[in-house]
Amino acid sequence: MPETLHVTVWNEFLNEKSKPAAALAYPRGIHEAIAEPLRHLPGVEVRTATLEEPQHGLTQEVLDATDVLIWWGHSAHHLVADEVVSRVHRRVLEGMGFIALHSAHESKIFLALTGDTGALKWREAMDRERLWVVNPSHPIVQGVPEHFDLPVEEMYGEPFGIPEPEQLIFISWFSGGEVFRSGATWKKGNGRLFYFRPGHETHPTYHDPNVQRVLANAVRWARPTVRIARQCPRVAPLEPPSV
Ligand code: ZN
Repeated sequence: MPETLHVTVWNEFLNEKSKPAAALAYPRGIHEAIAEPLRHLPGVEVRTATLEEPQHGLTQEVLDATDVLIWWGHSAHHLVADEVVSRVHRRVLEGMGFIALHSAHESKIFLALTGDTGALKWREAMDRERLWVVNPSHPIVQGVPEHFDLPVEEMYGEPFGIPEPEQLIFISWFSGGEVFRSGATWKKGNGRLFYFRPGHETHPTYHDPNVQRVLANAVRWARPTVRIARQCPRVAPLEPPSV
């Protein structure tokens, strides 16, 4: 029996309380819409955390018990405490998996992990998004069709300010003409990082079965294989150094 996979879904949980269209799409919050299908996976335990909780629900204790952290943030990146960002960052470098969704491209933690600008073009204009799988053997897209459409989504366009992906998984096309690297992975320290673009707060994207399949695959892919604390020791030679 493999060990239980512990997933934490973090959401700033503000848009759903201030925008009627977001409340309509996600009456229990985006975090619950993401968490619910994951709870049905065998061997997976899911908890949620939100901005308003003490330490945003991301205490050291919670992170110690988290294998994969999923992050959705949009309008309150600046309200996320630097101390919490550092704690999450350190935990990723130790081996925790991290999945950054949609507008998390501008979150402090994504920018810290990638060391890049996260900049992109955007438009809220009822575009249709077509996601193309460009890496069909990757575990994240098993059971996902070669392409699938989201009937209405916010547009994100290139150039996207990310380091060169180690693995590019999806490219999106939008009905307004733009394209975007909408699924990409990197290794950061001992942890795995996956950025997945879809998921604007006013569209029902996280109810889409293909999106749910991607996230189910992604939490398993991002599962840690090790936990190695950062160390930088001064060491004695194994044998006397030769002159
Ligand atoms: Zn958005």
